[in-house]
Amino acid sequence: MILLVGALLFISNGIIRDASERLADIHRTQVKPLAEVNELQSKINRVRVTEIYLPLMGDYFALAAEIDRLHTLITDFDQSFDRFKDHTKSIYPLEIKSINNSWKRLRGNLQKVAEAASLSQLDDARRISTYESSPRFVSLSRTLDGLAQKIKIESDSVYQQALSSLEKKRRQFLIISVMAVLSGIGLLLLFSRSLSVRVGYLRRAFNRIAEGDMDETLEIKGNDELAELAAAFAVMKEKVRSREQALNLARDELEVRVQHRTQALHDTNQQLSAEVEERRKAEQNLRILSQAVSQSPVSIIITDNTGSIEYVNQAFTTITGYSSEEVKGNTPRMLSSGKTAFATYQQLWTTILAGGEWEGEICNRKKSGELHWEYTHISPVKDEFDVITHFLSIKQDVTEKKAQQEKILYQAQYDSLTDLPNRMLALDRLESTIRQSRRNNIKAILMFIDLDGFKHINDSLGHDVGDVLLIQAARRLRDSVRAVDTVARHGGDEFLVIMGGIEDRDDGLPVVENLLSAFADPFKIAGNDLVVTASIGLALYPDDGEDANVMLRNADMAMYQAKDNGRNTFHFYNPSIHEHLSKRLELEKYLRHAISKQELSLAYQPIIDMDGERVVAVEALLRWSCGALGEVSPVQFIPLAEQTGLIIEIGNWVIENACRQLKQWHNMGYPHLSVSVNISPRQIQGEDLHQTILQHLHTNELAAEQLILEMTEGMLIRNPAEARRILISLKDLGVQLAMDDFGTGYSSLSNLKNYPFDLLKIDREFVFDIEDDPADRAMVLAAISMGKGLGLKTIAEGVETQRQLDLLRDMGCDRVQGYFHSKPLKAEQLQSWLERNSVTG
Ligand code: C2E
Ligand code: MG
Ligand code: MG
Repeated sequence: MILLVGALLFISNGIIRDASERLADIHRTQVKPLAEVNELQSKINRVRVTEIYLPLMGDYFALAAEIDRLHTLITDFDQSFDRFKDHTKSIYPLEIKSINNSWKRLRGNLQKVAEAASLSQLDDARRISTYESSPRFVSLSRTLDGLAQKIKIESDSVYQQALSSLEKKRRQFLIISVMAVLSGIGLLLLFSRSLSVRVGYLRRAFNRIAEGDMDETLEIKGNDELAELAAAFAVMKEKVRSREQALNLARDELEVRVQHRTQALHDTNQQLSAEVEERRKAEQNLRILSQAVSQSPVSIIITDNTGSIEYVNQAFTTITGYSSEEVKGNTPRMLSSGKTAFATYQQLWTTILAGGEWEGEICNRKKSGELHWEYTHISPVKDEFDVITHFLSIKQDVTEKKAQQEKILYQAQYDSLTDLPNRMLALDRLESTIRQSRRNNIKAILMFIDLDGFKHINDSLGHDVGDVLLIQAARRLRDSVRAVDTVARHGGDEFLVIMGGIEDRDDGLPVVENLLSAFADPFKIAGNDLVVTASIGLALYPDDGEDANVMLRNADMAMYQAKDNGRNTFHFYNPSIHEHLSKRLELEKYLRHAISKQELSLAYQPIIDMDGERVVAVEALLRWSCGALGEVSPVQFIPLAEQTGLIIEIGNWVIENACRQLKQWHNMGYPHLSVSVNISPRQIQGEDLHQTILQHLHTNELAAEQLILEMTEGMLIRNPAEARRILISLKDLGVQLAMDDFGTGYSSLSNLKNYPFDLLKIDREFVFDIEDDPADRAMVLAAISMGKGLGLKTIAEGVETQRQLDLLRDMGCDRVQGYFHSKPLKAEQLQSWLERNSVTG
């Protein structure tokens, strides 16, 4: 701070000194010379005026005075100029020199004028003054003027410099002053803050101590009054604290004493109330017990040690119908129903007379005569000498519970839909049949029955129809077996039949026949005539398995074999089934990849119209050249594809490729050719088939009637109404429908009229023997004439000989297909065949 003030004083002193120096300088270099120049100017003017007037003086004395005056003025100017010269020649050397020269010349002229005048040669004096002095005077006067101007200009600039330097110094002075003032204020604030912090600390410490916080330390550093005040206060605090501690100790001691006293009083009090409570509880327990006994929902009997009834409660009276008076003095034997085993009573008495407790179920009779089951618990009541004085019998009515248990047991063992034993009970019975057979050294048969096509009915007509079908099927099964045989539901549409007491495998055959024929008639459910057949697998004990699980597995496998054999049939288990099944699994594995591996192809077999022997259509027949298994016949893999559902994808592939191929033949000059594709029952469920057909007809720009769909009777049998609906919807697409393999199924010719078929393909089985077997001939003839009657075109399949062809022509058959004309050919082969046989489509 002091330094700042010192600096300020130093600067202000500098400013003042600088200002005065500058002032002096200005005075020396500008003001004084300027004044002297002005003085010289006025003096030279006076000299000139005197010179001019001199020749004009007429009076001699006046003239002399004027000459003196001129000399005086010259001398005066000389002196002034000498002074001026002394101190300005270093500042304005050029100008001084110029003035000096001008003055010397002018003084010379002036001397001449004065001499001429003193000689009274006034004209000379006038001439010299006018023509010689005048220009010199003007020159001197101008030089003085110029110097005055220069001094003036310089003085202005010096003045401006002095001013700006002063201004600069003034600003510095101002900045430093402001800084000095701010630092002063800062220092003041710092000082006051340190003071107020310490005072604040002191105040807070006082406040805390005043609030009782004696641990507060009061420490103020320094050696001023505040520190002393803090130290004094700390001493006072210490004193107060030690007093307070003493007081606290005294109070704690007093409190402990009071507590001890209170606890002692409390303990005595609690002991007293516990005793009172114990007594109150004992009384209450007694009351509750007697109430519980009398109001208990279970019946209670108390007898003396001879069994004579002394007490019965309200529940006993309510349940049995006997009043308390009616039973008192009697023994519980009066309730006996005669249904409880004698041994039970014997065990009961032995136990309780030996001092033990007995519990078990007893069937008693009420006053009304009604029987009821009671779960009874009897315990002896002993006195303080451990002698039995009474018996306490507690009985709970369990009649309903027993019925419930029986129901649950039934539900666990019987199928709720068909009321037949379920799988669990069936296995149980099978095991006991096996045990019995083993004992008696006889045989037993297990049949595994699966309904054919049940899944389809369930899916298409709904589960309600499916359920009714299962109930009816169960009834038919039940009615087809012997009373001693067990019919059970294995699950879904699978049933089991267990037959014991069998001598030989063939003993089961009549029952199998009964079972199969039980399914011959359609099931009439919800307005549908549903034909559902059964496939049956049989396993024989002990030949095909010695325990229930093996028997079950083998019968199941045999059932699969029956399915593979065309369904609606039975099959006995034999070990080769294993092999068959694993082959089937292998086949299925490869078939799944047949399309993606491009192993499938189509062969085409011409269908020839008898009229002019023209090829009118070709049948597309699937070929599978399996990489691992070689050529696999469609007879083998088509049923498998159907069972696994792969037929949908494969069938679509066939339609796509057959349509594309047909289009190529159209383009090659056979525009009237049609293609016939085989459709499986599984394919016609759902909308997929319709979409596929429409798409490929459209893509290949084919007329719908150039596509023929061949279907076997199989699909008509299961649900004729649904089959009709589907066939009509397919017909609506414009395609032609052919009934394939006619004669091998069950449908009768008259049945055909219900369906929108266009073509009837007579199975090659009948054509084969047409030459030798009159029955087959008759059948083919009937089919042809019936077909004609219904407006269908007939096609004979499997025509191999000229003779067969002739016979068929005679019978009026419209078209033929068979090796006689051509085996199924690859597309390219068929094309050359068409060319070779010069057929023009
Ligand atoms: P299908 O529809 O009755 O086909 C006619 C079968 O008879 C063909 O057997 C054919 O090669 C054979 N065949 C034709 N002419 C004669 C003959 O003069 N003598 C003899 N002995 N046989 C002849 P393939 O190709 O083995 O087909 C067997 C069955 O496989 C077909 O019977 C058809 O039901 C089924 N199938 C073939 N391809 C397909 C298909 O793409 N889809 C479906 N779902 N089934 C097909
Ligand atoms: Mg066919
Ligand atoms: Mg056929």
